[in-house]
Amino acid sequence: MIGGVETGGTKFVLAVGTSPENIHARHVIPTRSPQETLAEAVQWFTGQGGIKALGIASFGPADLNRTSLTWGHITNTPKAGWSGCDIAGYFARHLAVPCGFDTDVNGAALAEYHLGAGKNCASLAYITVGTGIGGGLVLNGQAVHGAAHPEMGHIVPRRAADDTAFQGICPHHGDCLEGLASGPAIIARWGASLSDLPLGHEAHNRVAAYLAQLCHSLYAISAVEMIILGGGVSKAPGLLARVREQAALLNRGYLPGTARHHIAAPGLGEDSGITGAMMLAANQV
Ligand code: ZN
Repeated sequence: MIGGVETGGTKFVLAVGTSPENIHARHVIPTRSPQETLAEAVQWFTGQGGIKALGIASFGPADLNRTSLTWGHITNTPKAGWSGCDIAGYFARHLAVPCGFDTDVNGAALAEYHLGAGKNCASLAYITVGTGIGGGLVLNGQAVHGAAHPEMGHIVPRRAADDTAFQGICPHHGDCLEGLASGPAIIARWGASLSDLPLGHEAHNRVAAYLAQLCHSLYAISAVEMIILGGGVSKAPGLLARVREQAALLNRGYLPGTARHHIAAPGLGEDSGITGAMMLAANQV
């Protein structure tokens, strides 16, 4: 048996199974302090009768550099108490198993690439649009890590000429993409989530247009074949179709190969992240 943990700001999803495709049991616990949350997770895994390896698909920012002394740690986060938390080390010590560690979105991207909507692609990006906006990129089967991990949500989109009053809510950049199009940005600006705003409301096209800029930029930079839009905001009715439409408008027929480029919903539904965590575990066996 192998185990997986998908960590998030509000919940941890835990799973055990014989492979990423065969999850036998899962459990969800609320995210509290690192001490409480990690101890409860370890207790659950211990009660499952033992695992050979664990995969952790974590919220970021996190240190993914295997040669670093702080590999497997959360770096600077506004989440209270979690800055500097040695997540991978904690599990490795308490469960005495090898641990794979990556970001939640890289995990989701790996899962969608190997088992989900991207099964026939050589490259795939997974973007989550929810409490924040983050993205992971898989090229030829490998999640891309550079000096750190890709962020994607903090790109600076071009503001529409008639949309310059809202300052954006990113504490670092104001009107970066996350500051304009994440769930909290939508609520700060229009007082309701995108799913709760009527379909004729301007918010739908505004948000789609900003997300389309990320899709267009990603394709222009990497020629990625598949972009998956996941997360709570992406589930708003009609949003995916609007993003596709707006991305095509931005391209203006210029970039080559767009017939083989797709913007899609997650093939694994809600399970991309935890399946990715299980894949990180399988890689350790
Ligand atoms: Zn930002």
